Amino acid sequence: MCFLQLVVSLYTDFLFFNILFYMFSSNSKLFLYNSLSRQKEEFIPLNEGKVGMYVCGPTVYSDVHLGNCRTFISFDVIYRYLTFLGYKVRYVRNITDVGHMLDDGEDRMSKGARIDQLEPMEVAQKYSNGFHDVMRVFNVLSPSIEPRATGHIPEQIEMVEQILENGLAYERNGSVYFDTLKFAEKTNQYGVLSGRIIDDLIAESRDNLKNQSEKNHPSDFAIWMKASDEHLMRWNSPWSVGFPGWHLECSAMSTKYLGEKFDIHGGGNDLKFPHHENEIAQNVGACGHQPATYWLHTNMLLMNGKKMSKSDGNTISPKELFEGDSVHVTKGYSPMTVRFFMLQSHYRSPNDLTDDGLQAGEKAFRRILEAIKSLNKIQGSSEQGSMDDKIDNLISLAWEDMNDDFNVPKALSRVFELVTIINTLKENKSETISVLSLDRCKKFFNDFIFNVLGLADDTVEGHGPMDGLMDIILKIRKQAREQKDWNTSDLIRNGLNDLGITVKDGKENTEWIINN
Ligand code: AMP
Ligand code: ZN
Repeated sequence: MCFLQLVVSLYTDFLFFNILFYMFSSNSKLFLYNSLSRQKEEFIPLNEGKVGMYVCGPTVYSDVHLGNCRTFISFDVIYRYLTFLGYKVRYVRNITDVGHMLDDGEDRMSKGARIDQLEPMEVAQKYSNGFHDVMRVFNVLSPSIEPRATGHIPEQIEMVEQILENGLAYERNGSVYFDTLKFAEKTNQYGVLSGRIIDDLIAESRDNLKNQSEKNHPSDFAIWMKASDEHLMRWNSPWSVGFPGWHLECSAMSTKYLGEKFDIHGGGNDLKFPHHENEIAQNVGACGHQPATYWLHTNMLLMNGKKMSKSDGNTISPKELFEGDSVHVTKGYSPMTVRFFMLQSHYRSPNDLTDDGLQAGEKAFRRILEAIKSLNKIQGSSEQGSMDDKIDNLISLAWEDMNDDFNVPKALSRVFELVTIINTLKENKSETISVLSLDRCKKFFNDFIFNVLGLADDTVEGHGPMDGLMDIILKIRKQAREQKDWNTSDLIRNGLNDLGITVKDGKENTEWIINN
């Protein structure tokens, strides 16, 4: 190793050590709010260095809405942060493509199929594709495993058999119901998550109103349902040709991919009851214990102070929001602005989407991006700078905020303090920063804003590889034309034409478009 390499290596080690030091100096432990215990708890994974996380995914019978996006963006940040901390995370997020009932007892998938006149699996494919497209636009990472309920019917049937064997379910006319009263008597665990008592659940039980009379108790819920003649999705089972109850898929698939016990189970807080409560009951009913150590719930996305709801017309799709094509907004907002806007609220607080809020979010996000660019224009000094301590302290506090139940809004408040310091350093030459602190600051912004929060700079136009390549090609063509090398110029134009790209020469510059 030459002297220079040694210096660089020592310097890099020093930086790395510093990052770890600042990350873990004052509050090295990650705490998260466990909905089950209703308090913040230190995060201790079941297997050192590894995390198993299951999040309830979308029901793919219609377009994904922004509320869903908020929940998946929140868990994306949690996934990214756990990975950033060095955990090897297995993140399972399912696709619900069967069994999710409407109030009238109709399967959402069948209803989607009827409306769209498609095969139910065509409906599921169509809306899964749409969901993936939206997730990609929002920069949401793919989970490690994305299992589908319809791909796990044997596992669900096995679980029903296990629950029956343990005496916590009963068969009635080809359907199988979970016996909530017996479960409550035996385990005292029904209602642990939602804090409800069994009598409160009577009126609310609605997995299938048509079948209420078949049940022993109104709060019992179907784990297998006999299919009516018109029901499109159906499988053979020991009890009937039918389909699994909605709650069962998550119990069966989380157990299959993460084991009977895993670390984190998440979803929107509207799923606490009945979905997660019933999942817990099924897991305890089949395996004797509840599945997850920590239950995490995101709060709802509102619009103008009211729950975003299709039936009230109080809704806006991601596409409408990006294009500004809605009465609820005065203009379009980029996906990264929307992502940033959502991250400004803590995942456990409601997030109210308003035009004013989006405009403020857009400005704030731009300020951060500008400051990141300014970092490259600031000169660091070899000695200690006047701003070093402040900067190091803010970075350390921001990571502490993240360790405090992923408090992104608070960490962002540190970011804005850093932005103010960066702007001061840019304009006021009497304040200084050392090279070390400057590098630490650059690394922090890269780690926190881009890697952990999953944001990207979408203000730079034409920075994709395609745009870069086209810039180079058009420059060569311009040179050829200036030298009256018409052969090369035509070769480029015709070659691009064959690829479906039209070049238009204007007075000032040359534009290109991809023909449809
Ligand atoms: P669904 O497709 O209805 O099964 O929902 C998929 C995920 O989005 C679940 O975790 C829901 O809790 C969550 N979700 C649904 N509506 C909202 C909302 N308005 N705000 C935040 N999350 C939501
Ligand atoms: Zn689920």
